[in-house]
Amino acid sequence: MASTSIDDCLSNRDGVLFVEELASTDLVERFGSPLFVFSEDQIRRNVRRFRDAFEKGWTAGPVKVMPAAKANWIFAIQRILADEGCGADIYSAGELDVALRAGVDPRFISVNGVPKSKEHIRRTLEVGARLTIDSLRDVAFLEELAPTLPKPASVRLRIRPAISEFVKKSDFASDGMVPTDLVALVYKGGLSIDEVIEAGKRVMKLPNVEVVGFHAHHGRHHRSTRYWEAQMHAYARDMGRVCTALGGYRPKEISIGGGFAIPRDPHNAATDYRDPFLLGTLHMLSLGLKYLGANARYRVIDKLLTLIEGHPNTIVAPSIEHYGAATTAALLDALPKHGIDPEGITLQLEPGRAIHGNAGVHLTTVEATKTMTSPIRWNLVTIDTSEFWMTGGRFEHHLHDYCVANRLDAPKTIKADVVGRSCYGDRLLGAVRVPEVQVGDIFAFLDTGAYQEVSASNFNAMPRPAAVLVTGDRAAVIRRAENLDDVFRRDELPEHLRPSMERETEQRPSSAAQNRV
Ligand SMILES: *Cc1c(COP(=O)(O)O)cnc(C)c1O
Repeated sequence: MASTSIDDCLSNRDGVLFVEELASTDLVERFGSPLFVFSEDQIRRNVRRFRDAFEKGWTAGPVKVMPAAKANWIFAIQRILADEGCGADIYSAGELDVALRAGVDPRFISVNGVPKSKEHIRRTLEVGARLTIDSLRDVAFLEELAPTLPKPASVRLRIRPAISEFVKKSDFASDGMVPTDLVALVYKGGLSIDEVIEAGKRVMKLPNVEVVGFHAHHGRHHRSTRYWEAQMHAYARDMGRVCTALGGYRPKEISIGGGFAIPRDPHNAATDYRDPFLLGTLHMLSLGLKYLGANARYRVIDKLLTLIEGHPNTIVAPSIEHYGAATTAALLDALPKHGIDPEGITLQLEPGRAIHGNAGVHLTTVEATKTMTSPIRWNLVTIDTSEFWMTGGRFEHHLHDYCVANRLDAPKTIKADVVGRSCYGDRLLGAVRVPEVQVGDIFAFLDTGAYQEVSASNFNAMPRPAAVLVTGDRAAVIRRAENLDDVFRRDELPEHLRPSMERETEQRPSSAAQNRV
């Protein structure tokens, strides 16, 4: 583990990784491998720290933490959040369903996203959740539904402000140098200022509908608190413009979305050997060296490869308390400048990764090792998980911090690619330092609590792993592992593709038993 000073659910006890009071090795023995593990205590502590930090800074009114359900929509996890009094940021009809079943108060559910079906909007309004308007199509549906609504609807307008003060490179555009303000502007979420104003004007005319406030969400483009301050300035500026255009409108609630980084912050452009200097050198050299013959060429490449090494990020992200202080101060400062008195306004926030990320560990088992000594030296460690079970992180170019959970104190003496079990390259960790691992060792990926388990797929017809919740010294399955029946459950065979024997069998049911031997 790169950082042991961070207050979290993990500890090193005699060289073994513990999650709360349970040894990761015991968890694998009991529940199998690979395994997604979540710490209940960590989730609860993260929620409370967000609430406390933002309540401390937001002196104008109440604060509501509404974690993004998409980051971890396992039912048991949503129950924990409901128990903590959280609201929820919801994207789909499925997420709305799980949040309601978990007992989240509908008044603090924000139904976000585009597109939304008319049915989804109808259900949102029927259960009394907030509808966050994110397209003029939402407005059109609302116009249809409004006259017959069983109860008054509360809606918010989602703005997409230009974060003009923040032009540093966005971490989401990892292979380019695209500035954050541009990436955020062309993101599909949110409405441009003219559309927001049009949406507001139309919605305000409707019976049974109240515009209760504004919403914005840009996501985790950058970990700095400066990014949050710039977001708040831009957001306040645009809210001010919309309020004026709507004839002196005043919001009752303002949602600032999510995108707070987690402490070990797995965003890392090094995942795929992206160091541009080394890659460029390697490519140019290998072109030139072609004429020297294979042996000389591989000798030089071997030397260069010793220079390439992947590292998990070692710069600790700002704490929840730092984010709370910087964000609330910026918003309290900016709102009055743009004509909005913050007094009495409810501040809502929607952290996703920052609630769940460091509450999760993915445990896997080393299945094989390979050592190449010529023509170049390279080591491979194959483990029993796959990038298809940690897809969310792959999309965002994560390089998760990792450790060999049963030998935490062993020196990291070799450099290896740690690869998954699918038939893709499945390079989960590129050229990282590891101890001399053996088959059967438990390899752990830290900070996998958000977006990973919930994005797993069945590539290679692989049944997905189980998820367990650790609570002190207890552990329980919260999502069971799949079996092959689960994997094939949705398959259907058209009549003409059925094996001829089976077709005959169906025609002659009396001889079915004989035929099926
Ligand atoms: C994804 C999302 C979030 C959470 O983002 P994180 O980066 O995980 O904190 C919050 N609000 C909305 C609207 C989202 O789409």
